[in-house]
Amino acid sequence: MIMAGIKSICVYCGSSSNIRESHRAAAREFGTRIGTAGIRLVFGGGRVGLMGLVADAALESGGAVTGVIPRFLKAREVGHKGCTELIVTENMHDRKLRMAALADAIVVLPGGLGTLDEAFEILTWKQLGLHDKPVVFANIDGFWTHLVRLIENQIAENYVRETERSLFSVASTVADILPLLETLPAATISLEEKWI
Ligand code: AMP
Repeated sequence: MIMAGIKSICVYCGSSSNIRESHRAAAREFGTRIGTAGIRLVFGGGRVGLMGLVADAALESGGAVTGVIPRFLKAREVGHKGCTELIVTENMHDRKLRMAALADAIVVLPGGLGTLDEAFEILTWKQLGLHDKPVVFANIDGFWTHLVRLIENQIAENYVRETERSLFSVASTVADILPLLETLPAATISLEEKWI
């Protein structure tokens, strides 16, 4: 089953391995769901943490997986070896642009500073009108609730416009992510064309 308008999803998620089991299970479940749905996974190309779990599960369920990794990280041998396609970029900035440009939608699983950096860059690019891809935070066990509250406080203090609340959506469970994406308007702006 291929979802209307969504052929590839870019996933941002943690590289830490020392994390709770429910987050590992969520990453595996999401990989399985998109692999089974025939949706390509685009991700940071690592084999560590949730990144490795989501990619392994997508591959095991017959899905296509594109890893996008900067040369210096690949050289440190943290790259996933089994990706259907591995794109090696010169630097972190090229990587973030390639990852986002290759995807029809963005999903943010639990993660650390790298995940936040990727999520906020994609949101600020959207805020500037450089793309209009759907962005979904997977609020597994309420992991992103503090972040949503922080953004609500930014809105209350007029640092973020009320209308910008619609830059992202929040799914409470992994099972809710794909049905939620089905309800969101498909992207109409090609990020790459705008940037290059
Ligand atoms: P963090 O949330 O700080 O663990 O960073 C994870 C995010 O940053 C992922 O979505 C990746 O795109 C990127 N990243 C961080 N560490 C690595 C790594 N060792 N290999 C590949 N990508 C990484």
